[in-house]
Amino acid sequence: MRTAKHLLPLIFATALLSAAPRPIDFTANLPAKGTFPAKWIHGSPSLLDNTDPPVQVHWYNAHTVIMRENKAYNYEGAFMYLYFGNDRAILLDQGSTSSRNEWPLRDVVDGVIAQWAKANGRSPDIELVLAFSHLHGDHFAAINQFIDRPKTRMMGLTHEEMVAFWGMKNYPADQVEFDLGGRKILVWGNPGHIDSEFAYYDTYTQILFTGDVFYRGRCYVGNFRMWLASMKRLVEFAATHLVAHIVGCHIEITTKGQDYPRGTTYQPDEPPVQMDVAMLKRTYAFAQTIKEPGIYFTGDVYICNQTRFKTTIDRNPYAY
Ligand SMILES: [Zn+2]
Repeated sequence: MRTAKHLLPLIFATALLSAAPRPIDFTANLPAKGTFPAKWIHGSPSLLDNTDPPVQVHWYNAHTVIMRENKAYNYEGAFMYLYFGNDRAILLDQGSTSSRNEWPLRDVVDGVIAQWAKANGRSPDIELVLAFSHLHGDHFAAINQFIDRPKTRMMGLTHEEMVAFWGMKNYPADQVEFDLGGRKILVWGNPGHIDSEFAYYDTYTQILFTGDVFYRGRCYVGNFRMWLASMKRLVEFAATHLVAHIVGCHIEITTKGQDYPRGTTYQPDEPPVQMDVAMLKRTYAFAQTIKEPGIYFTGDVYICNQTRFKTTIDRNPYAY
């Protein structure tokens, strides 16, 4: 009897432990495989008749979600990346539309978090970190929708706040590690599109997020020297780390390499959002030959070197 009584707390503790969810292992069998949709939502000829959801939610894998903003709400058609870890999730970029009534990103993200929590036997009140590539309005517009969400941290809206948030001492060269709970995100400075921008590498999927510095569209370069140095940093990173995919925030070209005019809300002939290291290397090699401002097509992407927001064609063939 005495022995049994003595064992009771141990039995209770064991029962409690078995009820707690087992940590997810984000370090085995890397890269964690995932899939992209065959086609993303890409606007429609008549936006009034658009029947797509405001935000397309795509589960790349069980712990990774990629979302796209409906072009009927904003032509930017921004991509957003949500990574789950054992302790917290991070949402990279928050789209182009502020109003929750107009474009309910917060509700979509809350729904996705609840779905993930249920599937993994966890509480949906997991901490959420809101970060973004850079301080252009098409990358953080909906951040305000999360103001009243409990357990939420935001990286800040000034350069000083952002650099301090990541604990960087030497921007842009410093590379810091941010732990989602067994899933590490590497973050470093990635300026050149604008002076204040960041690159994010997910060690679990090995997806490298390059923001507006490098993507399938018009890479608008504000400061060429900074941009070229950032491209070099990305190429060097890819030479020393495994990179499964490179992703950006927008798609602005056709599968044949023509750029859609700025403001296009219907892109029926889009290439995928994901790119590879060979494209990055080709673009960097091409960029090294650029001597003056102008629009350059590298064969993969456009480099719009100090051209402001010009496109190669000024007439929208999809207008009516
Ligand atoms: Zn952008």
